[in-house]
Amino acid sequence: MSRGRDLGDRVTAPDGVLVVGASAAGLAAAEALRRKGYEGRLTVLGAEPHLPYDRPPLSKQVLCGSWEPDRARLRQPDALSTLDAEFVLGDPAVGLDTAARAVAAASGRVLTAEAVVLATGLRPRTLPGQDGLAGVHVLRTLDDALALRADLLSGSRVVVVGDGVLGAEIAATARGMGLAVTMAGPQEAPLAYQFGPLVADLLADLHASNGVELRLGAGVTGLSGKDGRVTGVCLENGEVLPADVVVVAFGAAPVTEWLSGSGLLCDNGIVCDSRCRAADGIYAAGDVARWHHEPFDALLRLENRTNATEQGIAVAGNVLGADRPYTPVPYFWTDQFDVKIQVHGTLPAGAEVTIVDGDPADRRFVAAYRQGGVVTGVLGWNMPKQVRLRRQEVAGASVLVGGKP
Ligand SMILES: Cc1cc2nc3c(=O)[nH]c(=O)nc-3n(C[C@H](O)[C@H](O)[C@H](O)COP(=O)(O)OP(=O)(O)OC[C@H]3O[C@@H](n4cnc5c(N)ncnc54)[C@H](O)[C@@H]3O)c2cc1C
Repeated sequence: MSRGRDLGDRVTAPDGVLVVGASAAGLAAAEALRRKGYEGRLTVLGAEPHLPYDRPPLSKQVLCGSWEPDRARLRQPDALSTLDAEFVLGDPAVGLDTAARAVAAASGRVLTAEAVVLATGLRPRTLPGQDGLAGVHVLRTLDDALALRADLLSGSRVVVVGDGVLGAEIAATARGMGLAVTMAGPQEAPLAYQFGPLVADLLADLHASNGVELRLGAGVTGLSGKDGRVTGVCLENGEVLPADVVVVAFGAAPVTEWLSGSGLLCDNGIVCDSRCRAADGIYAAGDVARWHHEPFDALLRLENRTNATEQGIAVAGNVLGADRPYTPVPYFWTDQFDVKIQVHGTLPAGAEVTIVDGDPADRRFVAAYRQGGVVTGVLGWNMPKQVRLRRQEVAGASVLVGGKP
């Protein structure tokens, strides 16, 4: 394990830290290393040509055009230059020599460091036959968002394949842009698996009352096209939903294929111990990391913005020798139409759901999710302050976050 040598306020070891993935988790790790006093060599290797930017606005403000892309930047160039890190961008990592802690990039460059932080995020799943068919999109990167936006501006009928958080957000944004929007997916209501029927039914009402056509409960089997352009989405019941734009948003997989041959265990993410350590001197953070959450006594992988920052910071501490387990209370939010939903903790399938504040009829409430009588999570629907206060009721939250509300 790499240990930081603390010389008063100066931390000079490990001798070189390489962060792979120049986004939320990678940047959080790099910044936290400097804040904690690390003065050694710091390199950030990124596959995309862009300086680090934020992804949540891509399905909301950037997609609808209320934000220029620059506004989604995580830091302005001046702030990045004070980090004193070398950013190597547009050059994806293609291989890792774990023992040597050497990362080969597509350009042929090889970067070595005493500690390596892996923060390569996710890649969207795609439908068979989608490649090469114009009008079909995924949404993960800034370039994806701009390409989708351009098509939405010239299109009139969009089908969103996906009834999870991302699909529901894209449907809401596209509807706000005036398009005819259909949402297709296997669940009975948007986010039914994640939120349970009570909240999912409210979400279905929200989308329907805003004019989204819900074609849920039927699997999607493929796409139809003509002259190289998409014309529809095929359902398992044989129906074809007509479309001039299709967004495929039914999940994403951790970007780990470049680690094959590295000896790291990759199984639905980079498998790590409770310190987010995948091997000696090698750590993972953000959407790609599946680490042992000690209080839950389970391997956990979170796909949310807050975790990316918090885990990046935790990893920086461990790179410098803190040797602390990472034990967050999971948190995420989603914005759809005029509704902000925030979730603290976990919402297990089959949990008992009770409204503990507000009233769904007023479109403002907090729901508590209980399993075996224990509150495992709280969900706020347009009640940010109230749900935040209830976070401390989540089982173990005071232990997990040291009692801070
Ligand atoms: C459209 C969208 C909307 C979202 N909205 C919300 C929201 O409302 N609320 C919420 O909580 N979360 C939201 N999220 C999730 C949140 O943005 C992610 O959890 C967060 O971005 C994860 O950060 P990360 O750094 O782990 O991964 P990423 O942000 O995916 O960054 C990984 C980086 O690694 C790079 N990379 C990949 N492979 C390589 C390689 N081989 N070599 C070098 N670099 C590589 C990628 O190009 C990318 O820049 C949203 C995500 C998306 C896509």
